[in-house]
Amino acid sequence: MADRYQKLTSGGAGGFLAKRLGLPQPEPLRRHLPGAPAFPGPIVLGGQPSGRVQKSLHSQLAAAGAEVETGTEPRDGHRPDALVFDATGIRDSDQLHALHTFFHPRVRSLAASGRLLVIGTPPEHTTTAREAAAQRALEGFVRSAGKELKRGATAQLLLVAPGSEEAIESTTRFVLSPRSAYVSGQVLVVDGDRGGVPQSWDLPLEGKTAVVTGASRGIGEVIAATLARDGAHVVCLDIAAQSEQLRAVAERIGGSALELDVTAEDAPQALARELRERRGGADIVVHNAGITRDKTLGRMSRDRWDSVLAVNLSSVERLNDRLLDEKDPVVAEGGRIVCVSSISGIAGNVGQTNYAASKAGLIGHVRSLAPYTAGRGVTVNAVAPGFIETQMTAQVPLFIREAGRRLNSMKQGGQPVDVAEAVAYFASPASGAVTGQVLRVCGQGLLGA
Ligand code: NAD
Repeated sequence: MADRYQKLTSGGAGGFLAKRLGLPQPEPLRRHLPGAPAFPGPIVLGGQPSGRVQKSLHSQLAAAGAEVETGTEPRDGHRPDALVFDATGIRDSDQLHALHTFFHPRVRSLAASGRLLVIGTPPEHTTTAREAAAQRALEGFVRSAGKELKRGATAQLLLVAPGSEEAIESTTRFVLSPRSAYVSGQVLVVDGDRGGVPQSWDLPLEGKTAVVTGASRGIGEVIAATLARDGAHVVCLDIAAQSEQLRAVAERIGGSALELDVTAEDAPQALARELRERRGGADIVVHNAGITRDKTLGRMSRDRWDSVLAVNLSSVERLNDRLLDEKDPVVAEGGRIVCVSSISGIAGNVGQTNYAASKAGLIGHVRSLAPYTAGRGVTVNAVAPGFIETQMTAQVPLFIREAGRRLNSMKQGGQPVDVAEAVAYFASPASGAVTGQVLRVCGQGLLGA
């Protein structure tokens, strides 16, 4: 979908005028291109000598072909692509100045679409109240830095539980690369030793079967294509009314099409049967199908309430109940479940009591399910998109649409591929130590946390 304002202000007279008037000038974001190197430019890595993560991170990045610098002084004209600081050694608030010492002289030289990453310890894994406070402080630092960064740069906090240092590679590859173009100000937790390395980082999903609901268009279509790009066979699922588009998508990505209404009484059994018969089961399930039926609460009919809750939440619960049934699981060991929530489910939105309830419910579902499936190595996560350019958002009235596009640190809407890359990160076999999490893909939207 077109963002005319971005085009208008990207150069020439429009760009000049926007600059003079102090209007936002959205930077074209760098996105992943097939065959491009995992890390596009130099990475400056710093940290306390007592940090737990720096050493393994350095060797992982170097093995991946990244140009890593440690112990170098900032120098004129040097434009690092990423600034990474291992803060796991910080045990007291009076050591937090180390963040200032590292970032202050370097932050203004960060390249366009650069990456700022702080690595800490989950506060619940700290041993003293002082350490917990200092580690929690990292979150405020990162969220503010994300709001200050310009030209499409992002800032994230990665919390690594003690003993999980070797399990971080899929996460660092995501947050330090153009795959996380529209993700900023976020906190990700790596806890567990099920990280691992796929056979190939270019085709991490080779030999896997994925099912994506609502795959005939919009975000679901791009999720399906991205998982196929990463090597998966994708079963593309959508309602019969979308039959033609669904088949075209499945054919284009070398997957298969499945017409099914996720709210149908027998949908869980039908999906289980199809996945078993066609593919012997599934490794990745992406619950993307969703609808909106907006009205303010006083004007909302029961129909609008029921249909949104049924598609967006109850169907996901019912499908997961069946696919993860302990006695007869369809999802293989080491499987991946990813739900598509929304920032509406975090921040709420006018006219969306039904939608926000359903999307918040998904977050509760993911968080409560994750510990139960951990025994079989199945992770359960959610992505929470902000304003993404699709047919769904093209229907939003102009004024609200413009506010949605600009009220975030990137000053623009995201693309479906930004959500898809986040889903692919969760789906990776290397992301086994990442579960129960909600990752916002919202350009650090001003709404919500
Ligand atoms: P979309 O309307 O373009 O696509 C949704 C797809 O789901 C359609 O193909 C539709 O046919 C399918 N679907 C609907 N009901 C179904 C059912 N009962 N059974 C099977 N399939 C069904 O929407 P989109 O913008 O691509 O959104 C995809 C997901 O992302 C949704 O869950 C949405 O809530 C979420 N989301 C979107 C945005 C955004 O900005 N576009 C923001 C936050 C969250």
